[in-house]
Amino acid sequence: MVKILARLQRAVRGLSAPSVTLVGKRWRDPYLVLVSCLLSLRTKDTTTLPAAERLFGLADTPEGMLKLSIPQVERAVYPVGFYRTKARRIRDISRVILNQYGGRVPDTLEGLLSLKGVGQKTANLVLVEGFGKPAICVDTHVHRITNRLGYVRARTPDETERVLRGKLPQVFWKDINWVLVLWGQNICRPVSPKCSVCPVSGVCRKVGVTAHR
Ligand code: SF4
Repeated sequence: MVKILARLQRAVRGLSAPSVTLVGKRWRDPYLVLVSCLLSLRTKDTTTLPAAERLFGLADTPEGMLKLSIPQVERAVYPVGFYRTKARRIRDISRVILNQYGGRVPDTLEGLLSLKGVGQKTANLVLVEGFGKPAICVDTHVHRITNRLGYVRARTPDETERVLRGKLPQVFWKDINWVLVLWGQNICRPVSPKCSVCPVSGVCRKVGVTAHR
């Protein structure tokens, strides 16, 4: 797996990183990483990043966010999916961070999971991209590709995360998400992956792949 990931990492060089990774690199602020994660749920990266930029232009701290009205937040983040729900959630979470965590995003899995609307995937991504901590964010791409490769045999993303924690060398934990997200968006797509141009096709077991290009 180490060699496979190294090969895929080389193959995605030149592609634009996922929106949350870009936010982490540009702002280096766990709060903004958390907000961009919330915006990115069920939304394409090409929509998430401009929405995050518009919102951060208005407010980039929990205090600032609470000074905005919900319609202001909604207008800034539109057209991300479920923008009304997300606007409320961002404000609710900002309030909790301010009142219960002294204005700082908690830097533990337990602390992050205590925030309403933050699930395992988001919490791990904030640890990686916001705090630079070793964590494994298993989203739909990581789950699908590690199982297709035959490296993992798991039915759910949570199960995949548990397996990866046990066998993937920690040095790859931070990178596996953005590498496989890019690979999944571009080559190892959910339907009909482009195996003919995949540099790891020779070692991939293609578990569950019934048709490919
Ligand atoms: S060979 Fe096909 S199924 Fe395997 S990782 Fe590459 S694109 Fe995905």
